Amino acid sequence: MLDKLQNILAEAEKTAGLITDAQELEKLKLAILGRKGTLTEILRGLSVLPIEERKKAGERANAVREQLESLIDSRLSELKRKALAEKLLKEKIDITLPGLPLPNGHFHPIRQTLDEMTGIFESLGFKTAEGPEIETDWYNFEALNIPRDHPARDSQDTFYLQDDDRLLRTHTSPVQARVMEKTQPPVRIIAPGRVFRNEATDATHSAIFHQVEGLYVDKNVTFADLKGTLTLFVHRYFSPEIGIRFRPSHFQFTEPSAEVDIQCIICGGKGCRVCKNTGWLEMLGCGMVHPNVFRSVKYDPKLYTGFAFGIGVERFAMLKYGIDDMRLFYENNLQFLRQF
Ligand SMILES: [Zn+2]
Repeated sequence: MLDKLQNILAEAEKTAGLITDAQELEKLKLAILGRKGTLTEILRGLSVLPIEERKKAGERANAVREQLESLIDSRLSELKRKALAEKLLKEKIDITLPGLPLPNGHFHPIRQTLDEMTGIFESLGFKTAEGPEIETDWYNFEALNIPRDHPARDSQDTFYLQDDDRLLRTHTSPVQARVMEKTQPPVRIIAPGRVFRNEATDATHSAIFHQVEGLYVDKNVTFADLKGTLTLFVHRYFSPEIGIRFRPSHFQFTEPSAEVDIQCIICGGKGCRVCKNTGWLEMLGCGMVHPNVFRSVKYDPKLYTGFAFGIGVERFAMLKYGIDDMRLFYENNLQFLRQF
């Protein structure tokens, strides 16, 4: 009996050492320790032995069983360790390899221009205000002293939405009315944003473009404040040497109104194709806020004065960077955009 036990143990040690597969090892365990296993058979046969012998053989059998169990378990975990090590080796990542390059993006030239303009005005105490791109007829026209059927509407070919009351804003001026309605003077804001007009696209026109509207309302604001502010802006944006002039003009929402010209950047004022040989470039419109605009937002025109201006962002960017076709801004051509 004891020999048998010794044989089983020796045999198991030998076999387990040769097995390289976890499943095979489980089978071996079952063949010895399972319900019909060799060791189990022996344990079952113990009952026929005399009591003294049975006790001795039983102790030995139990010891052998424990030995077998720990033998198989340690072999099993050894196999698992080995398998894991092989797997890790196979899946190893070479962390010394250089990573994939991520191209660095940057802001679109229009965005850069807007930010630069906003920065200049903010340094002068203007706050940035925003309004919706879908506007009502009231804010886009009526509140700005452009009543229905007024011929001034013709100069802004408008995209109306299904009902006649809503439209895509043709300028950022409606933000003026929206801010004044909610705030008491002093008001000092700029309104940068996208505007829409039904225009055929060419080198200098686009149906979608950008404006920076400015408004300053307080007691005793004069045309001199307007001139000073815009001159400083133009000098900071282009160069302090550049000549600037104000020409009388007409806009519905300002009185008096002026057109601002700067000395041609291309020819320095001598005259060229871009300035049509005048030496001057038309840059923006401005003026003193019309009393009717104040009335429509319930400001007292006897108490307050103010000035407003509207800057075409694309035009400023084109002149600064020497771009001769406005369409380049919108075509998403990376060769063009990467230059900024
Ligand atoms: Zn010129």
